[in-house]
Amino acid sequence: MIIKENDILEFKKKHPCGGNTWKVLRVGSDCRLECVTCGHQIEITRSKIEKNIKAVK
Ligand SMILES: [Zn+2]
Repeated sequence: MIIKENDILEFKKKHPCGGNTWKVLRVGSDCRLECVTCGHQIEITRSKIEKNIKAVK
């Protein structure tokens, strides 16, 4: 799977704010994502992304 900066990812699991779309801010062994709905940022490993992802928009 190829994930690039500025991609919008849709996850299976919802964020507590109710959103399930995340914008990719930085790609590396750990990726930085921003919740599109509430703006919260997280660091997440690529393997966790691959487990949780539903779609890339
Ligand atoms: Zn959120």
